[in-house]
Amino acid sequence: MISSKLPNVGTTIFTTMSQLAAQVGAINLSQGFPDFDGPQALRDAVAYHVANGHNQYPPMTGLPALREQVGHKLARFYGVTVDTEREITITPGATQAIFCAIQAVIRPGDEVIVFDPTYDSYEPSVALAGGRCVHVPLAPATFAIDWQRLSDAIGPRTRMIMLNSPHNPSGAVFSGADLDQLAALIGERDIYVVSDEVYEHLIYDGVAHASVLACEALYRRAFVVSSFGKTYHVTGWKTGYVVAPPALTAELRKVHQFVSFCGVTPIQWALADFMAAHPEHLDELPGFYQAKRDLFCDLLQGSRFRFTRTPGTYFQLVDYAQIRPDLNDVDMSLWMTKEHGVACIPVSVFYNEPVREQRLVRLCFAKREETLREAAAKLCAI
Ligand code: PMP
Ligand code: GLN
Repeated sequence: MISSKLPNVGTTIFTTMSQLAAQVGAINLSQGFPDFDGPQALRDAVAYHVANGHNQYPPMTGLPALREQVGHKLARFYGVTVDTEREITITPGATQAIFCAIQAVIRPGDEVIVFDPTYDSYEPSVALAGGRCVHVPLAPATFAIDWQRLSDAIGPRTRMIMLNSPHNPSGAVFSGADLDQLAALIGERDIYVVSDEVYEHLIYDGVAHASVLACEALYRRAFVVSSFGKTYHVTGWKTGYVVAPPALTAELRKVHQFVSFCGVTPIQWALADFMAAHPEHLDELPGFYQAKRDLFCDLLQGSRFRFTRTPGTYFQLVDYAQIRPDLNDVDMSLWMTKEHGVACIPVSVFYNEPVREQRLVRLCFAKREETLREAAAKLCAI
């Protein structure tokens, strides 16, 4: 018998719900991915680079042209200048970047603070490094940080705090003031920060994303992670990046070079070309997804689900307490998928200790208009 290093890990909820949706023919609003393609010019660029000899290993740190484009973007959006040689690393997806950052600094016995509900990859990554997650719940309705609980959770073994804004699954966003408050709380303690900002451009109602990159007191101890998959509607390309001060980047790269060594060459070339030619894509993205959020929410006004419009990400939480208060959210998700043809994600799976009586499921609105209309019609009929 093998003794598992991750005895509590099974198949992820995203795989489970997507498989169930396919099996029963439900509209899949569960796992977060668009049902439309990324820009034609971007896809053409990959084909071009595959056909034109860009098929061998790129530099371990990422293609210089792509790191430069990321550098331009960071200057334009966050007003920061980073050394693209020593502070930016291109990775095969944000998940790998987060894993490498954790492996680079967490040792057996270290504690890592995560905010619940928390993204599913963090805890196994910490466990494999020999660390232990300390779960600090966000406030139940607003998903804001409970500063007292956070302060109480920080102790001598705390080595890292994981941030995620805009936040999956709630869509909540941190403000610049939140980041300043966190920096003040950490003070001079020897604590690293991983800031998962994969939804940095999916933020609505004119609000600007507060990046850890723009908060000097946090950035000097931080690994800031993003994903081209979300930003360019190509989740299956699994390409992301991590920005960290030179000393942290050096340690991260020691891990990265033996986990994957590098990202995928033609995809990096294509992203570099596309970012240079179409900077407006990033300016248009919040409006593009806000229109989808608003269409979907307008349609759901006619349903018995209760919700407030999500401020970020492409996820909308809905409360079903008026519909099936007797069902927990896992059973509700199964019921909605099998009986009503719309697959969703139960929120309790993102918690160490689920909130009692919370009746929330997550719906992904990164979908074509006809998909959203068809799904909303089914949801309104429940
Ligand atoms: N972090 C969060 C919060 C996510 O929702 C996701 C996406 N699915 C990731 C990380 C992983 O991104 P990637 O697909 O680039 O590994
Ligand atoms: N991040 C995606 C979500 O939250 C899922 C990615 C995955 O399946 N690993 O739905």
